[in-house]
Amino acid sequence: MSPAENSVDVTRLMAAVDALREPMTASLRDLVRIPSVSPKYPGIDYRDHVGRESDATALVADLYRRAGATVDTFSVEDGRANAVGRLGRGRGRSLIFNGHVDVVPPGDATEWTVAAPFSGDVVDRRMYGRGTTDQKSGLVAQAWAAIALREAGVELDGELQLQCVVGEETGDHACGTGAVLERGFTAEAAVVSEPSAPPTPLSVVLGSPGLLWFAVSVTGKKVHSSMRGDTIHSTGPGAAIGVNAIDKMFLVYQGLRALEDEWAATQRHPLWPRGHFSLLPGAMRGGPGGLTVPFSLSDSATIEYAVEFHPERSVADVQAEIQAAVDRVADGDPWLRHARPHLEWKLDWDPFLMSADADISQSLAAAYRTAATGSRFPTDVSWTGFYGVCDGTVLTRGGVPSLVFGPGDLRVAHGNDEYVDLDEVWLAARTFALLAAQWCGGRGPVPGSSLEGSLS
Ligand SMILES: [Zn+2]
Repeated sequence: MSPAENSVDVTRLMAAVDALREPMTASLRDLVRIPSVSPKYPGIDYRDHVGRESDATALVADLYRRAGATVDTFSVEDGRANAVGRLGRGRGRSLIFNGHVDVVPPGDATEWTVAAPFSGDVVDRRMYGRGTTDQKSGLVAQAWAAIALREAGVELDGELQLQCVVGEETGDHACGTGAVLERGFTAEAAVVSEPSAPPTPLSVVLGSPGLLWFAVSVTGKKVHSSMRGDTIHSTGPGAAIGVNAIDKMFLVYQGLRALEDEWAATQRHPLWPRGHFSLLPGAMRGGPGGLTVPFSLSDSATIEYAVEFHPERSVADVQAEIQAAVDRVADGDPWLRHARPHLEWKLDWDPFLMSADADISQSLAAAYRTAATGSRFPTDVSWTGFYGVCDGTVLTRGGVPSLVFGPGDLRVAHGNDEYVDLDEVWLAARTFALLAAQWCGGRGPVPGSSLEGSLS
């Protein structure tokens, strides 16, 4: 596209974002004050919480309207509304800005030491509250970027879609991002506004690992605890009397721990630190007849694992490798050889990975460099991989190549005293505004410094 067709005054656009800092911060605080805890989060009473996501979505939809967008608000489940705002003339490249409005529960409010979980209080340029980092700040920065485009008089050629979704925190994409795609809202590229850090704020995130959740269970043979000696040593009668499932479980644990060490050596990717791909034994139970009383040998034991795997591997491939590791353990133990450990696959989430050379990656990096110029943030782009998983997988699988870029840091997400640095929110909004103008092609009323010139 020639500069004549794409002439947006960058200085004016950045000034428009800067002038909106105060109302942007105020609307983030208002959004944080709506306790839009995912009603399907484990341990949460659905009826007590359903509807709050819709309240939060209504606030964001109002911002989309303020940007001049046509807004479609819809729900798959009552009280769990998504909103999609559409801008632009539909004659250039299209772009999705996606973010989720649901948050995880705050936990014990008395453990929050700086501010109450849904206060949105600001201390030292940080706003505190559940959802500040993950990821209402990203959602708000995307909305205000669109408002700034309007304030600067920029009209987009291609379509910009502002997507505010529910259900992300429980992987319930059938209610959220998946439903939005199914309704026909797609584009040529997407930026999901999950927190970019670690390692550094506002990194350009090119992909995420895959995720698996599985349970591995073993059985034993119950008998009185006084038989321990006769069952554990090779000199005794052993399994003829009893087998402690907990001991057998630790054999499986050791096998999977060895696999994890092997991954640290072999499963490497330049976007993630060494050892990131891992198998976490995150929950465990076992006992005689399901009781937590140690006066019998345990007849059952189970460990629940969360696995983050290399982004260039498939779910089926990793499942087969884990099954093989468990089989090796079973084959080497006289009891487990017959009483085989049982694997139950509970959740799988595909990885996604984008090239740094892709147009959208380069466009986002260029927008960031321009937006960060003169700020306290480095203008060098940090390329990284997402630590967790997100709706970038759903968008990619739906045919929309995706990146992650947003304010906040996963190191404070889901914890007590979650916060976001308000300077990051501001810089993210500047970056989003520039990216939309550059990607979708914009026209401004006062052609000054050409966007084409400064962003290429
Ligand atoms: Zn999130």
